[in-house]
This record gives sequence, structure tokens and C-alpha cells, in this order.
Amino acid sequence: MADSPTAFLFDMDGVLFDSMPGHAFAWLRAMQHYGLTMSREEVYMNEGRTGAGTINAVAQRTWGRDATEEEIHAIYRTKSEEFNRYFQSEEYMQRCAEAGTTAVLGEAPVMPGAAAVLDKVRERGMQRILVTGSGQASLLDNLNRHFPGHFTRDHMVTAYDVRRGKPDPEPYLMGLQKAGVSADQAIVVENAPLGIRAAQAAGIRTIAVNTGPLPDSVLSDAGANIVLPSMQALAEYIDTEFPL
Ligand code: MG
Repeated sequence: MADSPTAFLFDMDGVLFDSMPGHAFAWLRAMQHYGLTMSREEVYMNEGRTGAGTINAVAQRTWGRDATEEEIHAIYRTKSEEFNRYFQSEEYMQRCAEAGTTAVLGEAPVMPGAAAVLDKVRERGMQRILVTGSGQASLLDNLNRHFPGHFTRDHMVTAYDVRRGKPDPEPYLMGLQKAGVSADQAIVVENAPLGIRAAQAAGIRTIAVNTGPLPDSVLSDAGANIVLPSMQALAEYIDTEFPL
């Protein structure tokens, strides 16, 4: 890679927290409840879209029309309830046991390697900026609890800050603005194809960490400059590429 960056822009779901299995569980159940079908792969392909955008994509395919405001509200509410329910479920406990993460009832586990990555970025004097489409209040609270001192509110871009979600570049452009850096001074860390497209549209070098079930080729085809298998691999990559 070229010059050392001065800011890292981090996506949240599937990067800092291993929350995507909860989103997949919740979307599948909520859609089913309203007579819509969505595959697990489709959840991962659509990650980063707004709730309404995801619901309309599936509604168009099944009903041949957009969902009404009321339908969107009802489906999204069910999805949020199912998301919270997932972190109380047997399925969740089992996944944590298999992944070697610590299951804490009611919340998404920290992604293995995420804390090490943040510490290494801080050690190098680089900024940490959060750029997420999430508006889940619990996740934002968790962020400060699990990664204390890394993110302040003025270094966060969330669902409340942007009008157009990923794959629009707006969230990442706003992230650059909050960091006070230009695109060529930053690096984005993303796990999702639409997030990668958003970062590329903002002109920022993008490291993809493939923490989900999609093939690496989906992430490189979306425009990722590098695809790494995990946040642990990113921690090692930072050591090698940006030695202290
Ligand atoms: Mg993500």
C-alpha cells in the first residue's frame, strides 16, 4: 500500500461486532411472518441497505410492488424484536461455542481481533471513525462499553446522520469530514459488498474482512482493494504494512 493513512473508517456490523448472524436470523423470521421469503445469502448481499430498502427489494420480488409505510413499519418492528430474541437463543449459544466467542445473553459478541485492530490503529496515532447504517441504540452503547476510548460521538456516522445509506458514498464522505482528512489519507474496513461499493464511490482504499458466508470474489468484485479472512488477519496486516 501507498503512504500510511491517518484515519481508519470502520463499519460496525460484521467488523467490530459479530452481529450479522442475528440480523440474518431476524430478517428471515420477520419476512416469513409476513409471507415474504428472503434467503440467508440475500441478507448478507443486502447488508448496509436501510430497513425500508431491504423490505422493498423483497416486496417487489414477491408482491410486484413496494411495501406500504405500514407494512414497512410492522416488518421492521418484528425484525428488531427477532434480532433481540436471537441473542437469547440456543442457536446463538451454539454459534458462540463454535466460533470461540464469549456469549453474553442479550448482546452481540465482539468480533475476535477487533480490539487488537483498534489498539494498533491508536498506537500509530491514526484516528478511529465509525461509519454504520445501524441505528440500534444497544449496539452503539455496546461500542463504548467494549471499545472504551476509541469512538466519541463526533467521530461516529450512524443511521441518524445520513439521508442515503450505503451503497451511496454519503456515509463515508461524512466519515472523512468528521476525521478532517481527504480520501487518500483514509482506509475503510468493511465486510459487506454494498459497504465496499459505498467506500469505493467515496474514493477510499478499502480493506474487506470476510467474516460472513459470501465468497471472497463477491467482496473483490464489489471493489475491495484487499480481502482478508478476519479481523485477526487485519491486526497482523497492520503490523506488517505500517510498522511502528
Ligand atoms: Mg457490515
